[in-house]
Amino acid sequence: MRIVVVGGGAAGLSSGLLLARAGHTVTVVDRALLAPAADVESAAAQAFRPSAPQVVQPHVVLARGRQLLAQRLPDVLDALLAAGAVESTLADELPPTLLDRSPRPGDEQLSMLMTRRSTFDWVLLHAAAGQARFTLSGGTTVTGLLAVPGPRPHVRGVVTDRAPIEADAIVDATGRRTPVAAWLAGLGARPVSSQAAECGLAYFSRHYRCRSGVPLPGPAASRVLMALDEFTAGLWAADNATMLFAVAPLVADHRFRAVTDPDVFNAALRTVPLFATWLDVLEPSSGVYAMGGLQNTLRRLVVDGSPVATGVYAVGDSVCTTNPTLGRGLTLALQNAADLVGVLAETGDPTAAALELDHRVGQHIEPLFRDQAETDAARLTELRHAVFGDPLPVLAAHAAERLDFARLRAAAQVDPIALRRFFRLFGMLEEPESVYADRKLVAHVDHVLRAADLPRPAQPTTAELEAAL
Ligand SMILES: Cc1cc2nc3c(=O)[nH]c(=O)nc-3n(C[C@H](O)[C@H](O)[C@H](O)COP(=O)(O)OP(=O)(O)OC[C@H]3O[C@@H](n4cnc5c(N)ncnc54)[C@H](O)[C@@H]3O)c2cc1C
Repeated sequence: MRIVVVGGGAAGLSSGLLLARAGHTVTVVDRALLAPAADVESAAAQAFRPSAPQVVQPHVVLARGRQLLAQRLPDVLDALLAAGAVESTLADELPPTLLDRSPRPGDEQLSMLMTRRSTFDWVLLHAAAGQARFTLSGGTTVTGLLAVPGPRPHVRGVVTDRAPIEADAIVDATGRRTPVAAWLAGLGARPVSSQAAECGLAYFSRHYRCRSGVPLPGPAASRVLMALDEFTAGLWAADNATMLFAVAPLVADHRFRAVTDPDVFNAALRTVPLFATWLDVLEPSSGVYAMGGLQNTLRRLVVDGSPVATGVYAVGDSVCTTNPTLGRGLTLALQNAADLVGVLAETGDPTAAALELDHRVGQHIEPLFRDQAETDAARLTELRHAVFGDPLPVLAAHAAERLDFARLRAAAQVDPIALRRFFRLFGMLEEPESVYADRKLVAHVDHVLRAADLPRPAQPTTAELEAAL
């Protein structure tokens, strides 16, 4: 098939590579130039683009994403490691409060990949440049769809600010602000199914470099995410001795309005003792990048059992976005891309393919969207209680029969069984509901939480935080 992929971000490039390797002729079109930079440092220096501002934010490739790369794009995984990406093993992730630190069979599956997003995209661009049946058309904006209009339009290409491109199928990889639903509606299609759940956080991040020869206070592949009383903050190791910090307060928490000032950013982080020890050995290498408008979203092109259009598929953020603190986006995009390629190998019928891809979105993506929506609702309630004094809800009656993300994470701080199930959930190796509804695990976590004196992370008082801000 001739396939046009609209959008050359991580989802578009990985889908394009997989599709070309499956024998399709692929053109990836992006409004950005997307020429691979000379090296990863140049790629990082020129990474920011308004059409994909998240590329300068911290990124981790979760265990399931690393597994998908190893299975489906092994050359890309090898090239990432050769470009300096580092693997964070479970041993790197063990909380200091865990007493039983012995390794267990299966721990090796839980490793994640730590890399700057610009390095990830740089490696994908290089792979694309050497790929047969793959054309990258950078600097080209898609402005609409070529289609047979009607109540269920059949898409047969794209209109661009240059020449139209005809295709047997198009893939929407335009990211979180996808215009495709509006284009389809303009052709007479029914509205796509669109769900949203509040994520409620603003994201501020900054890049740092490890000083050469200076010992680090933790593993070089560290990833530390702290759900503190009044905000969330984290440290992400990345390729080539770089590290990124992020501060994620409630959007409505205006005490953080000055955190875009690099000194205020550092001061806020220094209120957390663990982060202060890291800041002592790191050299800042960027300003503070801010990102708002974060939402959990799920868009589906099949509504009430029938596709709103044929000849059009979607992958990546245009299908689903989730709270970035849990780092699910790239892994969902890789899963989505693998599913698309599998579906197109199984059937050439556009209606059957649309239905089957949507079925796999229901299997592989929707459970993560729902989990994120539920986890975020609970966390937002906690934060709003701590910051604004909003009331806490009464616990639901079923709470003792089912786990949630926060309870499992709390038990994982002190218990090796809970820790491993938590990392299987976090790494997207196991579906949320199979973890939360596991009776044995529910009882075990309950026991751990009753028996243990749970550690609280050392963190600032309100007065200390406000002084820093
Ligand atoms: C703050 C933050 C932190 C994150 N952290 C993580 C993390 O740790 N781990 C993780 O896995 N995920 C993370 N994510 C999510 C991850 O960034 C996204 O899932 C990922 O970027 C999705 O890639 P994409 O290719 O779908 O979209 P994008 O990367 O946004 O790419 C879309 C592309 O489409 C192009 N485009 C759009 N419209 C047009 C048009 N009309 N014509 C031509 N081109 C067009 C754009 O130029 C862009 O290049 C994070 C996200 C945010 C916001």
